[in-house]
Amino acid sequence: MRPADLLIPRPEGLYCPPGDFHIDPTRAVARALVTHAHSDHAIPGHGAVLATRETLDIMAIRLGEGFAGATQAATFGERIALDGTTVSFHPAGHVLGSAQIAVEAPGLRIVAAGDYKRTPDPTCAAFEPVPCDIFITEATFGLPVFCHPDPKAEARRLLHSLAQFPERTHLVGVYALGKAQRLIRLLREVGHAGPIFLHGALRRLCDYYAAQGIDLGDLPDATLERGRARDFAGQIVLGPPSAFAAPWVRRFADPLVAFASGWMQVRARARQRGVELPLVVSDHCDWPELTGTIAELDPSEVWVTHGREEALVRWCALQDRPARPLHLVGYEDEADD
Ligand SMILES: [Zn+2]
Repeated sequence: MRPADLLIPRPEGLYCPPGDFHIDPTRAVARALVTHAHSDHAIPGHGAVLATRETLDIMAIRLGEGFAGATQAATFGERIALDGTTVSFHPAGHVLGSAQIAVEAPGLRIVAAGDYKRTPDPTCAAFEPVPCDIFITEATFGLPVFCHPDPKAEARRLLHSLAQFPERTHLVGVYALGKAQRLIRLLREVGHAGPIFLHGALRRLCDYYAAQGIDLGDLPDATLERGRARDFAGQIVLGPPSAFAAPWVRRFADPLVAFASGWMQVRARARQRGVELPLVVSDHCDWPELTGTIAELDPSEVWVTHGREEALVRWCALQDRPARPLHLVGYEDEADD
């Protein structure tokens, strides 16, 4: 079988004709394999969804119990026969439950990595390199200029600011799935043992992570009805990016607005969002991780999806490695409110 017969880019996502399934479809389909529960990869309305237990749980939390007609949980490494193909899920290191999906036909294995990163993250299983003929990589930060700093150093910058401005409430924008929990763990690891206050929109997923054994420490509600604004002076309050456009922010004592995202490396984006303290914490590969992963896996061909495809395809060409962009649409840069 030719690779292009095993997985085909379609407007609704990658489609596998012999297995009759889509990977991360952006429209409702009969059978979907879902890499992770970020909203641009995991939508409601599919006839059936195959994903890891954690991804299914998080989809149910965010979309409601009836998010699909039927669900099946895949454990990492388990080989599952789907018509003429065999599929297996492998850790992607992106967020809790995130998986790469390997699709096999006799003599051919394609790995769709989904969103992934190589930087250690104690809130999810580490990326597992899976030997393959075709590697499908994202390219969110697919430009040589993107080189993410040590995430612990970024967490220390937040604590340093807190020590420097003890009267100011440090309001930190974080996406609800993955970034919030990872930043909390990072702060714990660099020595912040005190409370970290949560906007209500972050509560359920933080509770879910904690129930899965990821120790996040004391996370009281940042409800202002219960306290006065000055009670949050010198405290860390986490909220989803959407909350920062609301009057919510103005209720806090002399707020210092921070934002944790890989995009904070781009100063213009930080300024645009009115971010005083940009924290560069990414759940995607930077350029060295993307190119290092391709070199390590050494696939015979690379397919590049959402992000900055062209630079990575060109890099592959300069390495004499066949590569092509898939031009899949519907996946965001790093969107997940
Ligand atoms: Zn994602």
